[in-house]
Amino acid sequence: MYELCFVENELLTFILYKMKETEVIVKCPKCQKKALFKSTWIGSYVLRPASEGYVSCTYCGHSGKYIFSKESYYYQIPIGDRILYARTINNLIAIKRFFENDMKTEELYLDFPKEFYVHKKLIIQKIAALLQQEENDN
Ligand SMILES: [Zn+2]
Repeated sequence: MYELCFVENELLTFILYKMKETEVIVKCPKCQKKALFKSTWIGSYVLRPASEGYVSCTYCGHSGKYIFSKESYYYQIPIGDRILYARTINNLIAIKRFFENDMKTEELYLDFPKEFYVHKKLIIQKIAALLQQEENDN
């Protein structure tokens, strides 16, 4: 279930990454299109990816060292006063499925904010539109 969760604060980010690969789709610092961010694991008690890593962009060819932050996420969907972040397209699909099927998270601290449940139809709509757009781009 962990991988379905949205990422807003650092703790969530760490837990999510622990479950999955460290790769995140980010906005290319040069051309703002989709780029791939990778970093290595750090930490002792809780493993997490270092915010310092490496970015590579297939659109403009840019590659180099990169410092990851929340703003780096390529997939950001504003929902009310909050932002839903997704690491990858698969993460977006999983989040959509989560709300479509009225699923629940087992860990309370990994849950989505209430606001997301209130706006779940909007989330489904926005993700569907984004997925459609991605398909058209390919
Ligand atoms: Zn680029």
